[in-house]
Amino acid sequence: MFLFRWFPSGMFRSLGVAFKNLFRRSITIRYPHVRAHIPERARWAVEINYDEDGMHRCTACRICEKECPNHLIDIDVALGEDRSRHIKRWYYRRGGCMMCGLCVEACPTDAIKMGHDYELAHANPDLLEYDLLTDVAAYKRARTPRPADTAATQSQNQRGESNRDA
Ligand code: SF4
Ligand code: SF4
Repeated sequence: MFLFRWFPSGMFRSLGVAFKNLFRRSITIRYPHVRAHIPERARWAVEINYDEDGMHRCTACRICEKECPNHLIDIDVALGEDRSRHIKRWYYRRGGCMMCGLCVEACPTDAIKMGHDYELAHANPDLLEYDLLTDVAAYKRARTPRPADTAATQSQNQRGESNRDA
């Protein structure tokens, strides 16, 4: 009985666990020699969403700037004499970004997106702050008539036709 109490059963149990794991498939990878597969919907830092012609779609409305809970976006906009907008600087402080995606969801023109690059670490914190756009004209959306305007125009046209018939 005394001998049984001092028998190192824990040691054999741990050896058993180690032996079992020798033949299991590894769940780690040899990064950076092997890169992990990132799911399509994973999101990392904010990026500009360029279209197929390489054009951005930022209208400089500054909604994203107001939506960011951490105040990481700062858009410097200049107004031209013809009231056109010019983006002097689209500044993004990535170091404080929690990748919530609220700015992307709020953007009315899909001008920004959450990127897929996960190798974002830098020893120098200055490299975590940068301009996504500099000195570019803001995107101008084609104007579509509002439903109210369309209805008013149709009733005007109908009134004009009935006057002509009279
Ligand atoms: S990125 Fe989108 S929400 Fe932000 S200023 Fe440009 S158009 Fe507006
Ligand atoms: S992803 Fe979230 S925290 Fe990062 S810039 Fe956009 S709103 Fe701000």
